[in-house]
Amino acid sequence: MLRFLLNASLAFKMVVIMGLVAVLFLGTLLLVYLPTVERELRQDRKDSLRHLVEVTHSLLIEYDQRVGTGELSLAEAQNRAIHRIGNLRYEPSGYFWLNDTALPSPRFIMHPIVSNLIGAAIDQAPFPQARQVQYGRAGPIHTIPAGQNNLLQTFVDAVNHGGEGYVTYHWPKPTPNGPTEKYYPKESFVRLFEPWGWIIGSGSYIDDIQARLARLRWTILAATGAILAAAMLLLAVFMALFVTRPMAALMHYAEKVSAGDWTSPVAGRFYGEAARLKSVITQMVHDLEHALQQANTQRGEALRESEKNRLLTVKLNALFKAMTELVVLHELVLDESGQPVNYRITDCNAAFEEATGLRKADVVGKLATEFYFTETAPHLNAFAHVARSGEPLVFETRTAQDERYFLLSVASLGNNEFVTIATDITKRKRTEQLIANKNKELEQLVYATSHDLRSPLVNIDGYGRELGFAVAAIQAAGTDSASSSEKLAAVLRTTMPEMTNALHHIRNSTRQMDALIKGLLDLSRAGRSAIDIGPVDMDALIAKVVSSLDHQLKHVGAQLHRSALPPCKGDAIQLSRVFANLFGNALKFLDPQRPGVIAIRGTMEAGRCVYCVEDNGIGIAPEYHGKIFELFHRLDPARTEGEGLGLAIVQQILGRLDGAIWVESTPGTGSRFFVSLPSVRSKDSFPGPV
Ligand code: ADP
Repeated sequence: MLRFLLNASLAFKMVVIMGLVAVLFLGTLLLVYLPTVERELRQDRKDSLRHLVEVTHSLLIEYDQRVGTGELSLAEAQNRAIHRIGNLRYEPSGYFWLNDTALPSPRFIMHPIVSNLIGAAIDQAPFPQARQVQYGRAGPIHTIPAGQNNLLQTFVDAVNHGGEGYVTYHWPKPTPNGPTEKYYPKESFVRLFEPWGWIIGSGSYIDDIQARLARLRWTILAATGAILAAAMLLLAVFMALFVTRPMAALMHYAEKVSAGDWTSPVAGRFYGEAARLKSVITQMVHDLEHALQQANTQRGEALRESEKNRLLTVKLNALFKAMTELVVLHELVLDESGQPVNYRITDCNAAFEEATGLRKADVVGKLATEFYFTETAPHLNAFAHVARSGEPLVFETRTAQDERYFLLSVASLGNNEFVTIATDITKRKRTEQLIANKNKELEQLVYATSHDLRSPLVNIDGYGRELGFAVAAIQAAGTDSASSSEKLAAVLRTTMPEMTNALHHIRNSTRQMDALIKGLLDLSRAGRSAIDIGPVDMDALIAKVVSSLDHQLKHVGAQLHRSALPPCKGDAIQLSRVFANLFGNALKFLDPQRPGVIAIRGTMEAGRCVYCVEDNGIGIAPEYHGKIFELFHRLDPARTEGEGLGLAIVQQILGRLDGAIWVESTPGTGSRFFVSLPSVRSKDSFPGPV
């Protein structure tokens, strides 16, 4: 109900409110005002009745006094009183009666209208019955129960309780043609005249009061109805003028606005609140239009911006896919206090998948520690600094496993995210290394060549000069005419051994130079000869090398142990030279004090093959472990053959095969030469940031 009222139209609510006000107003008039008016009218009527009866009562007193003075006898006084009072009238049809108080059947002493009532017993039906009685002039009003309502008895009852009282009953009205058939409500005042035991009374019909009240009620109803109707009419006009029409106009305006027509004005006249509402709504619409225009402009800009971003994203994605660099996106992993403790791969490009041999689905989501199998995430602090500060970082790094080099560019993507772009610079690095080695070799070569070629040259020069002196002495002896042939013979005898010696040395020196130049040629050939890299069966290769050394082994009485060797990647011819050289040295530098034992083993280490040629020879002092790979370097030139070029050539060859050589040795115990080469299965491994 309440909800219905709340949702009802304004006009309906106003009608309901007015109805409620009218009901309240009417209720107050009918239930409070009219009863009050009725009470007051009745009281007025009662008061005037009482005054009249009191006045008439004073006549009885007067006659009784005249009896007392002896002027009149009691009977005469009573007759005069009856006569006098019986003739008293007042408007419009008022009269007085007298009755006695003889219970149980009191009788009328005088009744001026219906004379046959006088002296008659009037307790038989249809004699009027009393309805209400009031003892005294202001006592309570009692309704008389049926059976006890004999009218004259009720008069007696009223005066017995207070000397006077009011009684209500129905009674015919006196007319010139006698009493009416119809009975009308009537109220009488009765008073006892004690000296004679008489009751004097007079009554007044009260139907006129009820008629007046009925008229008043109808007047009130009619007036209220008229006021209500007028108010409704006014309300209707008011609603139409000030509410309905402005509302309809505003609604029409709102519909137009919602249909996109922002320019049409609001039609109609507006007053008071409606005018203010109109101005507020039109202002609001104006503001909305402005805001909408702004929003549309911003939306257009946003759309253009988002299209630009979309195109950029497409381009970046294409770039991301097509880049040959290894691009990986990461996000930092933070602990509860916000400190970076790890980082996670969130995306990678095709080049990364290609290099690692892993699919994106297997990589994305992995923590750095899981992916690189490390205790702590590699370069965590540096990467976290980039991600948070936005400062890019570029550095070179090397994979632990296969010595590959990468140029790592790190850039922040915001939000604790960063990207690493790895460029494989292994080739460049190796080339740089190679150039550095070559330069070093070249320096050594120039130095060694100039140094080692110089000593035989100095020899040749010295002995050449000696030869020159000898030739000059012989020439002088031959051209001197005075000298005899004996003298020439003597000169020849003395110079000949010197010349022979000088020639011998010159010859040795030229041989030495020849050997050096041959060695240099060898070295140069080793650096230039074509290489054919492929899988090499090392067991077969070493078997061949060893068989070619069989004679020498037997000659020095040495043993050679071989174990199964892993295959490697390289050039078989060049590797034969390497190991022939190493075995040759092992044999050459055996300790004559003990039987020689030479062994070769091979293992796989971090994806590479590492071979070890071990002997129990004289060993090499630690300070020469690096020097022996230099050109022409021999530790004890007097004791051994060779030009000190073997290990330099070995290193040269291994350098070209992506190999390496190093030595571990203890003088007096023996030496171990290690050769590292790429394994057959090794492929370009992924570049960890380590
Ligand atoms: P060469 O051709 O004169 O043998 P290498 O370059 O092969 O020269 O060796 C250089 C020097 O290294 C040798 O003169 C020798 O002193 C030392 N050396 C090489 N191999 C061994 C070895 N297995 N045991 C001890 N010394 C060695």
